[in-house]
Amino acid sequence: MLRTRFTEEFGVEHPIVQGGMQWVGRAELVAAVANSGALGMLTALTQPTPEDLVKEIARCRDLTDKPFGVNLTILPTITPPPYAEYRQAIVESGIRVVETAGSNPAEQLAAFQPAGVKVIHKCTSVRHALKAQQLGVDAVSIDGFECAGHPGEDDIPGLVLIPRAADELDIPIIASGGIADARGLVAALALGADGVNMGTRFMCTAESPIHDAVKQRLTEADERETELIFRPLRNTARVASNSVSREVVEKLDAGAGFEDVRELVAGARGREVYERGDTELGIWSAGMVQGLIDDVPTVDELVTRIVGQARELIEGRLARTIGG
Ligand code: NAD
Repeated sequence: MLRTRFTEEFGVEHPIVQGGMQWVGRAELVAAVANSGALGMLTALTQPTPEDLVKEIARCRDLTDKPFGVNLTILPTITPPPYAEYRQAIVESGIRVVETAGSNPAEQLAAFQPAGVKVIHKCTSVRHALKAQQLGVDAVSIDGFECAGHPGEDDIPGLVLIPRAADELDIPIIASGGIADARGLVAALALGADGVNMGTRFMCTAESPIHDAVKQRLTEADERETELIFRPLRNTARVASNSVSREVVEKLDAGAGFEDVRELVAGARGREVYERGDTELGIWSAGMVQGLIDDVPTVDELVTRIVGQARELIEGRLARTIGG
């Protein structure tokens, strides 16, 4: 057992979170994560309507008795979803932990705090983390430049971002971005984090509800095979390198606007990648950490391995450095 402020305050066995992943955070994966003793998050906007989210929460409860959370991300979007209705669905379903992301959490906190829902706010800079703490979130998940999805615009990797956050914040910190194994977990704890968040690593597990060909691609790809799209639009996203993401980078670098790449980047097209297994069909998310992933274990094998090896690392290699 690895005990931290996060495991104590959030009542989970292991200091490991599976955070929001659009199209991936569904009941099969989240329940497997919960059953392994880690904290999984359904991704609210993966469900087409708030009513579908209510059904997905119920489906997840059929698969696990353990607690799980829901991610609700507010980012620039082609068709703005009814965020308030999704929040109502989350609260009315009795969810106790929410991961907010993508923008200032004030609007989200106003709905979740009065209902007693704990909020973990995912952000990408110390200043945003401090703002979230001041607003009253219960923890922050701070995402280094290595991460999949939206790394922000400052490009600060976890090795600097996590200890900077630890120096400034009083609430528990989840280190996110670039973590896939026990080495990442132990390093994050040493840097001052109270737990880790993993996305890409959980995408590549047996229970992850995406096509096997995408998982296969993640095991083959190295750490250099990602692209940063939307950089000139200040909505940077790290995605798998493929013909579509490279075309988007080229067009935006040449001065194109969002409308010129809208068809290429549409989430509905990226979703086809996960469903059909053709990794060249659209944009899909992957972090640099894919370079560290070379198998497709079950979630339970993965979590057991990480926690076991973390303990061995602390008691073995690290203890030996001080003669223990
Ligand atoms: P989408 O099809 O609306 O947009 C595709 C991509 O284009 C997204 O990365 C989006 O941020 C970006 N985008 C849209 N309009 C933009 C604009 N005007 N300027 C710059 N960039 C723009 O989104 P989607 O991929 O279908 O996602 C559906 C919903 O899920 C959206 O509301 C999105 O914010 C959200 N989402 C959640 C997560 C998560 O992990 N929880 C990750 C990504 C997206």
